[in-house]
Amino acid sequence: MDRLAIVVPCYKEEEVVEICSQALREVLEDLISKEKIGPDSFILFVNDGSKDRTWPLIVSEHEKYPDRVKGVNLAGNVGHQYALTAGLLTARDMCDMAVSIDADLQDDVTVIEEMVDSFHAGNDIVYGVRNDRSSDSFFKRVTAQGFYKFMKVMGVKTVYNHADFRLMSKRALDYFGRFKESNLFLRGIMPTIGYNTSCVYYSRKERVAGESKYPLKKMLALALNGITSFSVKPINLIIGVGIGMIGLSIVAAIYSLVEYFGGNTVPGWTSLMLSIWFLGGFQLIAIGLVGLYVGKIYMEVKERPRYNIEEILD
Ligand code: UDP
Ligand code: MG
Repeated sequence: MDRLAIVVPCYKEEEVVEICSQALREVLEDLISKEKIGPDSFILFVNDGSKDRTWPLIVSEHEKYPDRVKGVNLAGNVGHQYALTAGLLTARDMCDMAVSIDADLQDDVTVIEEMVDSFHAGNDIVYGVRNDRSSDSFFKRVTAQGFYKFMKVMGVKTVYNHADFRLMSKRALDYFGRFKESNLFLRGIMPTIGYNTSCVYYSRKERVAGESKYPLKKMLALALNGITSFSVKPINLIIGVGIGMIGLSIVAAIYSLVEYFGGNTVPGWTSLMLSIWFLGGFQLIAIGLVGLYVGKIYMEVKERPRYNIEEILD
């Protein structure tokens, strides 16, 4: 029987851990009784360096349900993407498939069964896709949807409305383990893995408790990281604008020459000042963008470890 691991990154989730553990254990017992997954399937909580009661609660869940609940404690907060990677790559050697899900139960745990069915039907990656966001606040909905659209415009292939709720087979995880980059954007990496994939649909619920650990600042950082890690379109855009500017300046030069020979010239102070400011700003943007990529190269070259596991409960 195929062993399932459910990987749950947790950052300051003390209000949620027990509820989440309960809900996921029910899912596991149900699937085990239906013989869809092995009796040794388990939940793997990853504590992303929270200093609240998150880890002690994970330890106590492990003591109460040693067969069902395992934990990984990261030494410091590394962020959702890295915590999830730590969990997936730890689970990889202990399972045949792994589902990643947020601790707050916003993603519908009942579709895990559909994911497992889809795995048995021969899919290596099954994406959980939100088809209803009515429970999200207006602000979250607009910013999140803007995020997916913007990524597309910027040339990053992602699955629309899929966050990090997905099932991966062991061999997909093995391949994922070969991505050594420090700037991780999982939603961009997954579609490049290949194999057979499918989607399951669900409506996104509200957090069971606690509040979002993904404020706008972190969302913007995620989007920026996604774009600069996967696409050189921003640079192309800048080059395009540059070419357009050259075209415009030729037209402007012809126009001023015609005016000059026609004897209509006026002291060109205003236009001169305007263009100095405009070009100055434009060059700063261009240099900044190039710098962004240079910064990424710098980080990659250092090959820093991406996380530091302090303890593993097994
Ligand atoms: N999370 C994490 N590290 C962080 C921030 C968040 O592991 O630095 C986890 C968090 O505990 C949750 C998941 O990532 O399980 C998604 O976070 P959240 O639900 O706050 O994001 P939202 O659903 O609001 O986008
Ligand atoms: Mg959430």
